[in-house]
Amino acid sequence: MNPATFLRALGPEPWSVCYPEPSIRPDDSRYGDNPNRVQRHTQFQVILKPDQGNAQELYLGSLEALGIDTRAHDLRFVEDNWESPVLGAWGLGWEVWLDGMEATQFTYFQQCGSLKVAPVAVEITYGLERILMSLQGVDHFKDIRYNDAMTYGEMLLQNEYEMSMFNLKEADVPAHQTRFELADKEANRMLEARLPLPAFDQLLKASHTFNILDARGAVGVTERAKLFASMRKLARESAQLWVERREELG
Ligand code: ATP
Repeated sequence: MNPATFLRALGPEPWSVCYPEPSIRPDDSRYGDNPNRVQRHTQFQVILKPDQGNAQELYLGSLEALGIDTRAHDLRFVEDNWESPVLGAWGLGWEVWLDGMEATQFTYFQQCGSLKVAPVAVEITYGLERILMSLQGVDHFKDIRYNDAMTYGEMLLQNEYEMSMFNLKEADVPAHQTRFELADKEANRMLEARLPLPAFDQLLKASHTFNILDARGAVGVTERAKLFASMRKLARESAQLWVERREELG
């Protein structure tokens, strides 16, 4: 959902980038009890546009560079197409299983914001915690050594517990419904002002608010369809406007 992926994958311009991305998924809240599913994890995100045809080789090389002997570990590529209905985005791809855990997702983006992605962009999303678990031979995220002084658990376990409490039990539902409406309205206003980046930024706020409401169990069937439609519209219009503005700016 970072604009460096979602927006930059669009249009004809070449774009190759990598960056770490702290990723928050309220629905993955487990109070820190689950060994490899946390509500805040870090992805390492790579975009290669256009595709040079050697993404899988580059990926295997990157694991070797991290110190993972790919012949000594159990490494599998399993077909898994990716889709985000909210973003009007989908792609063909694989998930990579490392020692029995999904550790990376590979996607050849076909569509973003309901627009065709041409040329196709390759996205490689590494799950850093899971790769570190394999590298360090630990079987719970809290035992990852962050550095010589500290474990991941010492740093982030309390955060997992408290944010899980918030996401699943404490977040105020009416306040979040209002927050969704405000972000939706502001995003539409930014589209009218022809500013795709702030419009997309407001969509991200709306989407995060939706995810909290969903984790709280506060979204009914009709409401879900309505909120999805609003977000899909914003994703499509931000994407279209982004492409238009890039063309105008030459
Ligand atoms: P899942 O099906 O397990 O929910 P996903 O397929 O939605 O995950 P992606 O969006 O493809 O996951 O995320 C890329 C990578 O990030 C995954 O391969 C995984 O290694 C890691 N990841 C995803 N969600 C979590 C999580 N909640 N905790 C830790 N790592 C995660």
